[in-house]
Amino acid sequence: MNYQSTRSAMCANDTDAVLQGIAPDGGLYIDPELDKRPFDWQGCLALSPLQMAEKILGHLLPGYRDMGRLVKQAYTGKFDSEDLTPLVAVGEDHVLELFHGPTAAFKDVALSMLPQLITAGREQSGLSDKIVILTATSGDTGKAALEGFHDVDGTGIIVFFPDEGVSPVQKAQMVTQTGGNVRVCAVRGNFDDCQTGVKQAFAAINRSGDLADSGLRLSSANSINIGRLAPQVVYYFIAYAELVKRGVIVCGDPVDYVVPTGNFGDILAGYFARLMGLPVGRLVCASNANRVLTDFLETGLYDKRREFLKTSSPSMDILVSSNLERLLFLAADGDCELVADCMRRLNEEGFYQLPEEPLRKIQAVFSAGCCDEAQTAETIGRVWREQGYLCDTHTAVAMHVARNYKTQNPGHAPVVVLSTASPFKFPAAVLGAIGGELSGDEFQQMERLSQLSGLPIPRGLAGLREKEVLHRDVIDRDQILPYVLEHLKG
Ligand SMILES: *Cc1c(COP(=O)(O)O)cnc(C)c1O
Repeated sequence: MNYQSTRSAMCANDTDAVLQGIAPDGGLYIDPELDKRPFDWQGCLALSPLQMAEKILGHLLPGYRDMGRLVKQAYTGKFDSEDLTPLVAVGEDHVLELFHGPTAAFKDVALSMLPQLITAGREQSGLSDKIVILTATSGDTGKAALEGFHDVDGTGIIVFFPDEGVSPVQKAQMVTQTGGNVRVCAVRGNFDDCQTGVKQAFAAINRSGDLADSGLRLSSANSINIGRLAPQVVYYFIAYAELVKRGVIVCGDPVDYVVPTGNFGDILAGYFARLMGLPVGRLVCASNANRVLTDFLETGLYDKRREFLKTSSPSMDILVSSNLERLLFLAADGDCELVADCMRRLNEEGFYQLPEEPLRKIQAVFSAGCCDEAQTAETIGRVWREQGYLCDTHTAVAMHVARNYKTQNPGHAPVVVLSTASPFKFPAAVLGAIGGELSGDEFQQMERLSQLSGLPIPRGLAGLREKEVLHRDVIDRDQILPYVLEHLKG
C-alpha cells in the first residue's frame, strides 16, 4: 500500500490507485515516502529514454510486473523522434520539445503510457470489469486520451470539452475520433465547468453504488490519476542527461525548469523528479493571464473568485488547478486534515490561505510568473526573428516567464523550458505573431505557417480537415452526470 489519499489516511497499492483515478474520499493518491525510498538517479542518466522510463516508472509504480514491456508497447513507433522528447538549444536556453507524439501535444507522453498501466493493472488484479475513462479536457488531454484508449480491450472512454473553449484544430481532432469504445461530448461552459462536472459525476456514481455488479468501473485520464503523472517524471531526467552529455553541466549541478502550467501536473512531475534525487534547481511555474497560481505562489492565498479569461493558450485556461493539492500535502508533511480543509474552503468559499510553514517550503523550490496575451504574441515573434525558433502559445508563455526569471535571478542555473505543444496546433495565434497573413480557416493557416517557417505539419494534424465528423453531442454543464449514466447503461 504505497499510495495514500491527500485528504485522509485512505490507502491503495499502485495498481488500484491507477485503476481508481481518484481516491474514494475525493482526494488524490500520493506516495508520501517518495523522497525516502532510495533511487539510483545517477545510474539512470546513462540509459536510453525507454530504459530510463522503465526504471523511473518501476520506482514510482513498483507493483507493476513487467514495466519494460509496458513502456515498449506504449512508445515504440508512436513518437517521431528517437529521443522521445528532444532537447533543442535556443539562444542560451534549452527547449525540451514534448510534442512529438501522435496528437502534437505533451500529453501524449503520459497518455500513451496510461492505457498500458490500466490494462496491466486490470489483469494483475484479476478484474473482469470494463474500465470506463471519464475525462474533462481543456483541449489537449481529450485527443491524447482518445488516441491512447480507442479500441483498447476492456476499456471505454467518454471525453467532455468546453464547446467554446478549445481551438478549431483541437475540436476537429476530437470530433473525428474513430473507435468502437469512444464518446466525445461538448459542454456549454468552460474547462472548470467540465472538470467540476466530471469530478461530481465520479463522486455521485461511486457513492450511489449505481455501478455495483454492473461489470463497469470508472477511472480518470486527467492528471489527477497518478498513472498520468508518473510518465511525466521521465523527461525531466532525459533533459538533465542531455545537458550532462553536452557538457553544459556536470552531473550534480542544478538545472532550473520553466513549465507552462495549467492543472499543475507537468510541473509537479518535476517536483517528483527532485524528490527522487535529480538535481532540479528551481521549478518556475509559468501562467497565462489566468494568473491564479502566480498569485498563490507569491502570497499563499489561492483565490478562484476572479474572471475566467479565454486566452490564446487555452490548455492553461484554468482557475482550479487540481494537482496543487498533492504539493500541499507534501509541503504540509502529510497533514491530510489541512489539505481536506483547504479543498473544502476552495469548493465552498472559493479561496483558502495556506499557513506560513508549508508556504515557505513551497517557495523554497517554486518560483512563479505570468504572461499576458500581448506578451505571448510578442515572445513568439521575437524568438522567431532572433533565434529562428518557432514556438506555440503555451511555450511562449514559459519563454516569457523564463526571461523575466533570469533577469530577476542573475545567479540562476542553466534553464530548460518545457515546450508543450507544436506551433501548428495553434496556427492563427502563431501566424499572427510572426506577421503572417491570417485569411482562411485554421487548416489553410497551418499550410501557410508551414510555408513561412519551412517546418512540416505534424503527422496527426495533416489531413484532419478531410476526416469525417463522428461526434456531435452538445450538453449543458449540469447534464454531465445524466449523460454519463445514460451511456454507461447503453
Ligand atoms: C495541458 C497543457 C498544459 C498544462 O499542463 P498541466 O499539467 O495541466 O499544468 C500546458 N500546455 C499544453 C499545450 C497543454 O496541453
